[in-house]
Parts: sequence; structure tokens; C-alpha cells
Amino acid sequence: MKFSYRYSRQVVVNGFGVGGQEALAGGRVLIVGLGGLGNPAAQYLAAAGVGTIGLMDNDVVSPSNLNRQVLFRPDDTDISKVKLVQERLSRFNPEIEILAFHQGLGEESTPEILKQFDVVLDCLDNLPARLRLNQFCLSLRAPMIHGGVTGFYGQLTTIIPFGGPCLRCFSPGSTLACDCARVGVLGPVPGVIGVLQAMEAIKYLSGVGRGLVGRLLVFDGLNGTVDEVPIKRDPRCPACGGHEDQLIN
Ligand SMILES: [Zn+2]
Repeated sequence: MKFSYRYSRQVVVNGFGVGGQEALAGGRVLIVGLGGLGNPAAQYLAAAGVGTIGLMDNDVVSPSNLNRQVLFRPDDTDISKVKLVQERLSRFNPEIEILAFHQGLGEESTPEILKQFDVVLDCLDNLPARLRLNQFCLSLRAPMIHGGVTGFYGQLTTIIPFGGPCLRCFSPGSTLACDCARVGVLGPVPGVIGVLQAMEAIKYLSGVGRGLVGRLLVFDGLNGTVDEVPIKRDPRCPACGGHEDQLIN
């Protein structure tokens, strides 16, 4: 396959190369949530040349989004986020396809949409919605890359259904239950985590590197540290338990 010059700096990367770029061109990534995480994730996936990017969100832009949702402008207030991101990223990279789904996870069509993609990014902002997405991904055996932020802190992991811990295994009542409106978030924190979610998706699609399966990466923006916390599958997990035959130790 011949690639346009815009990917020349990736194709020459040792260990990625033409094969990696081909995998991205044929890859399909769904971003669920176009807030502080989904904005940078979408930008970097589009820039890297992921062939098909799906955007799912039922929200419109509010001025309070602008400290971290860097694709939006003040005059976008009350306009659909998926429509704006689709329009802007299509112009930024006309070589890829960007699909917009202006809806939440409660719609009947959600499983059919999820099935169209190789990997799903959890860029949501509340725990009930995340757990719902986790359940969809488990039942469809869809890999899910989870990112979460609050205040100065962020976290990230890659979930391979029944091949490692799911979101429910390690996050009952965690800080992810916090919502940005109440607790707040420093703009660069979701920038860091959203870009790392894009990196995990690129690794998954191209088969390079080691995914964050069974490992929770924890970013402390206040102290400038990144830690890795091992996480294990809970055999009694209400979401993914009862599939011991598929447990990978
Ligand atoms: Zn689980």
C-alpha cells in the first residue's frame, strides 16, 4: 500500500513501519464520549491515519467545556459535539472516514453500532455510563480502552473481555464516580490521558508493544508522577465472573 506523505514520520519508525500504518488504515475505532478525553483521542487517531473513526455522544457544547475540550470554540455553544468534531477532523484529514452518532448508550441501536468497530474508547464522564459501556463491550467481546480523570489525576487501562480484568472488577465505587461539574478537572490532565488512550488503540490495531491489560496506569499531574498498579480479574465480578473457562492467568 502507498501512503500519503503525511504519514511519512510514522512509516519510518522502526518496529511500526508500513505494516503498522496499513493496520491503522484498515482499523475502526469508536470513541464514546467527546469531552476532555474524547477530544484529544479523536485528534490523534485522525492524525495517525486510523481509517474509520466513530464518534458517539448526545451532548452539545457548553462554555464550561472549553478548558479541556480543545476542538471547540465559544461560538459552538449548543451545537452537537459529534457533528462539530466530524466536520473539523474530516477537514483536518480528508483521507479517513469519520462517522457521527448523536446518541447516548441508552439507544436500541447501540450494540449494532459497537459491532462495527475493532476497539472502543471509554471517554465517558460518569461511572454508571462507563459500567454500561463495559457491559456492552463484554457481551460483544469488544476491547475497551478506559480513561478517567478527576482534579489533578488520571487513569488508564485496556480491557480485553474475559482476557483480563473488566472495569467492574477493579472500580466499585472508585473516584471515577466523581463528576467534573462538582469536582472539576485541570485541562491538561484529560489531554494526557486521552492521548494515551489513542496510543493504546494504535498499539492494539497494529499489534505493536504491550497493551495495558491487567495494569492500571495512574497519572498524578500535581506531583508529576506516573505509576502502574497491577489489577486482577475478580472471579466474583458481577459483570465478567462466571467465565472461568476463559480466564487467562
Ligand atoms: Zn469484571
